[in-house]
Amino acid sequence: MDDIKISKKYSLPKEMKAWILKSPNELELKTKAIPTPSYSEVLVKIDAVAICATDLDVISYGPPALIEGEKPFNKEFTPGHEYMGTVVALGPSVDEFQIGDRVTVEIHSGCGQCKRCRMGMYTSCHNYGLNYGKKNKGHRANGFTSDGGFKQYAINHINTLIKVPDNMTDEEATLVVTAGTTMYGLTELGGLVAGESLVVIGPGPIGLLGVAVAKALGADPVILIGTRNDRLEIGKKLGADFALNVNEEDDIVNSVKSLVGDLGVDYVVECAGTEKALDDAIMMTNRGGKICLAAFPHDPIKVNIPHMVINNIYMYGIRGEGKSATHRAMAFMKQKRFNAKLVHTHTFKMNELPTALKYAKERIDGAIKVVIKPWE
Ligand SMILES: [Zn+2]
Ligand SMILES: [Zn+2]
Repeated sequence: MDDIKISKKYSLPKEMKAWILKSPNELELKTKAIPTPSYSEVLVKIDAVAICATDLDVISYGPPALIEGEKPFNKEFTPGHEYMGTVVALGPSVDEFQIGDRVTVEIHSGCGQCKRCRMGMYTSCHNYGLNYGKKNKGHRANGFTSDGGFKQYAINHINTLIKVPDNMTDEEATLVVTAGTTMYGLTELGGLVAGESLVVIGPGPIGLLGVAVAKALGADPVILIGTRNDRLEIGKKLGADFALNVNEEDDIVNSVKSLVGDLGVDYVVECAGTEKALDDAIMMTNRGGKICLAAFPHDPIKVNIPHMVINNIYMYGIRGEGKSATHRAMAFMKQKRFNAKLVHTHTFKMNELPTALKYAKERIDGAIKVVIKPWE
């Protein structure tokens, strides 16, 4: 392809270092060929990648990763999906981005032709995982159905790129996709408007940035529920009006109602994924209120459906970051409406990935968001 523009400034080697997933929990450092960008694609030199709880699931358990229709093990697959970097080569016809642009990336590039993609819900693409052989529908989800970011270079569709302002650090830019996920859940899927009351259950990265985005959108009050006081304190700095430790309250549903009134809260963003948290969410939501499910329970869960039906309570799952919500999250972060950097606790080098994953998984030393910076 003679149309590809390659940087003179960034000399490109033929091969790169990449972590690949062998058996569950087994990663190996190898070399891979650097791929060539096709139409509507660019090559990104990865400058930082954050570890997400879903990466830990993919590495130890498999789903939601799906490589060639199967679990992602022993398929030369590189996980990692929350990355940012520098554009170093442009595919034919790409003029939306320039070589040298700093970009952070969304995970999903849908097939662009199914019903959901046509609605902008490309994270719910009906052709999820169909990106190989005769089943290639063009779907991509970095670190889930195609190669991810625990390596030096990645191909990205231009629809997945968000420009990073000069004054934003690489580490902060990796958090845009997490903030964008909560933005999608609250606004595009949830219809939140200013003045509605909101509870977030579970102060992990998505819950904490959910607090921040909800506050920036004008939710009032914003209440955070968790079990670790250090994380609840960070939630307050990100905009929670109240932070409740579930272990220190007699009845968390009553505690919430004492803050918002007996009718209950307008929105709950459920980021814990336990049966108790889900049932609490149902019981604290007011009639006609909404519950956004942002955690992945591994097993089916029993909850109070009759109460939901009688009270016209909506419950909806959120998968990823649709409808370009990441761009709106970036607008908030660029304007410094909240300090996302508060959730970034640790940084490791790319060759220390196994240690970094251990910190994230076991929450060593208060780890919340662990970011990997590349090899020198
Ligand atoms: Zn993630
Ligand atoms: Zn699609």
